[in-house]
Amino acid sequence: MRFDIITIFPDFFTGIFGNGIVKRALANGLIHVDVHDLRNFAHDRHRTVDDRPFGGGEGMVLKPEPLVEAVESLGVATKAEREGQCESIILLSAQGARFTQATARELATLDRLVLICGRYEGVDERVNELICDRELSIGDYVLSGGELGAAVIVDATMRLLPGVLGNEASSAFESFGQGDEHFAETDGPPRSTHGSGGLLDYPHYTRPAEFRGLPVPEVLASGDHAAIRKWRRERALEKTLRNRPDLLENAELSREDRAFLEKGARPKP
Ligand code: SAH
Repeated sequence: MRFDIITIFPDFFTGIFGNGIVKRALANGLIHVDVHDLRNFAHDRHRTVDDRPFGGGEGMVLKPEPLVEAVESLGVATKAEREGQCESIILLSAQGARFTQATARELATLDRLVLICGRYEGVDERVNELICDRELSIGDYVLSGGELGAAVIVDATMRLLPGVLGNEASSAFESFGQGDEHFAETDGPPRSTHGSGGLLDYPHYTRPAEFRGLPVPEVLASGDHAAIRKWRRERALEKTLRNRPDLLENAELSREDRAFLEKGARPKP
């Protein structure tokens, strides 16, 4: 999958993709990330990319010409031609639709994403109208630029591509993951995570078995796979109820899950 990022701060991305899974995916050629300096598409001596807002008010606005020319230089299809194609042009914006794991899953089916990073007060709206397929926000807060948002979208999307994570199951069975049809039937050892079905992940433990007086929950060392699955499911339900009760509305819940939730969340230990 190919990602093109258009920004006035190309250096922003030098470190951010240089670690861990993104670094490995880049090295293996599973993803390509090209960062384009918006100022290369300005035409005046000062390489101006912003201007004062029509109608008055604070701050500056990114001009439309350099942004549209930058996108055109990439050879992506026009908005009309893009219908049904596997590429998408995204404007990072606090006014955008919320980027979620479901959005990441949708974007991961595409071949190419172009990510436009705003700065200052934002981007001339005609950029959005003329060339962008969607406006995405990474959360309900205002950042100083779209670069962090672009990095978030690249990271969350690329880890869902086949071959990027060592273990495909790890992205299927984690927080916000889709349900696991086989959850109820599996007799084998519990998967590292399973069947979140819209819930948050359950808590994880590793060695030492006791740390600062806190033992690892006994059931995890019991070898009783069914008991471990039940314990994990209940902890995931409990954590979701405590931290993100809004997620329960759309979660896939069994009758047992509902009965468990009716008892209410225990206070945080
Ligand atoms: N005036 C705008 C904020 C501009 S912030 C408003 O009130 O909505 C400058 C740039 O940062 C934006 O153009 C956008 O690209 C980026 N940005 C800010 N908050 C963001 C968010 N929550 N998600 C994604 N991008 C964001």
